[in-house]
Amino acid sequence: MATGSRRELLGGLGAGMMLAGMAARAATAPSRKIGYAVVGLGSYATRQIMPNFAGCDHARLVALVSGTPAKLEQYGAQYGIPATHRYSYADYDRIRDNPDIDAVYVVLPNSMHAEYSIRAAQAGKHVMCEKPMAVSVAECEAMIAACRKAGKKLMIGYRSRFEPYNRLAIDLARGGHVGPTRFITAEHGFPIRPNQWRLDRPLSGGGSMMDIGIYSLNAARYLTGEEPVEVSAIESTDRNDPRFRTVEDRLSFTLRFPSGIVANCISSYSSPHNGYRVIGTEGWIDMEPATPYSGQTMTIRKDGVTAPRTLPSPAKNQFAGQLDHLAECVLGGSTPIVTGEEGLADLRVIEAIYRSAAERTFVRIGA
Ligand code: NAD
Repeated sequence: MATGSRRELLGGLGAGMMLAGMAARAATAPSRKIGYAVVGLGSYATRQIMPNFAGCDHARLVALVSGTPAKLEQYGAQYGIPATHRYSYADYDRIRDNPDIDAVYVVLPNSMHAEYSIRAAQAGKHVMCEKPMAVSVAECEAMIAACRKAGKKLMIGYRSRFEPYNRLAIDLARGGHVGPTRFITAEHGFPIRPNQWRLDRPLSGGGSMMDIGIYSLNAARYLTGEEPVEVSAIESTDRNDPRFRTVEDRLSFTLRFPSGIVANCISSYSSPHNGYRVIGTEGWIDMEPATPYSGQTMTIRKDGVTAPRTLPSPAKNQFAGQLDHLAECVLGGSTPIVTGEEGLADLRVIEAIYRSAAERTFVRIGA
């Protein structure tokens, strides 16, 4: 067997074994389902997260938190959540007295993540928090400290880590399927509609980088398994565009990793992008689109041959996989694969990216 195909087999086996491992854990985990309260009934919570509890083995939706009584009424009725399990932001801390709630899923605007995660931990609940984890390194550290003090788990909603093509890409890239990785390119962006909290810095904490460019950064980190040591970034924002009065539009940033891998990344609020490519010494692994809700497409070039790679449909989609993962960690006493430290690592790089763009210099990360 050629070295390449052996590596490929091992890469494929790695992904298969990981999924089989998850299935085996699922089979042996206790049957109790972990109860989640969803905080913030906006687009992502109501269209992607809440409907996917139906596909979970170990997680269930038991409570809702919203500032809008009509939403509590509507979704409470739809999901069979009784009035005793519906909360406003004002009485959020009363979740402490509800033993049905094991975990809180924070799906609010970015600048509210830290406060609502910390209050959840103080109420004795495990925390799932959407990306970006928070709007600063300091907030991330406070969230980690609060969960540690309360003895509760903290997980960040990086759903691609529960999506089979991304899992395979990680195995193949780290396993050297196309030779040792030399470069990564990663691009994420979309033309943003005006008049929304994402364009209001006090709520978003920043522009495209906080919202969508974080997928490029996170992919570069999970595909290498390394932490970047240096970054340089260029920002381009038309401040006359009413969408970009307080937040950035485009960023191009370059990360250097300890092994020498270089990642060239794009973040944009004015052009469509969704993809990454891992370029090794013997070929490349391409994912486009890479991180949508569904429809990931992988193409591999190796030994001079370019071919699509298709996987069977998973029994559980990435949303249910993510919800079940925290539940399994709670039930089994293990640590999530996407902890608060993972969210903190992204924020550390984002702060360095902003600094590099502002100061027009290379920035060493952590320095
Ligand atoms: P959204 O605007 O649709 O929902 C935000 C919710 O927060 C709304 O219900 C709104 O009423 C509530 N809210 C409470 N206080 C608010 C305030 N002061 N201003 C504005 N809204 C307020 O946004 P969304 O798209 O659901 O995003 C919510 C979070 O989920 C964000 O952190 C975002 O980054 C994340 N998200 C993640 C993904 C993913 O694929 N992982 C996708 C979309 C959004």
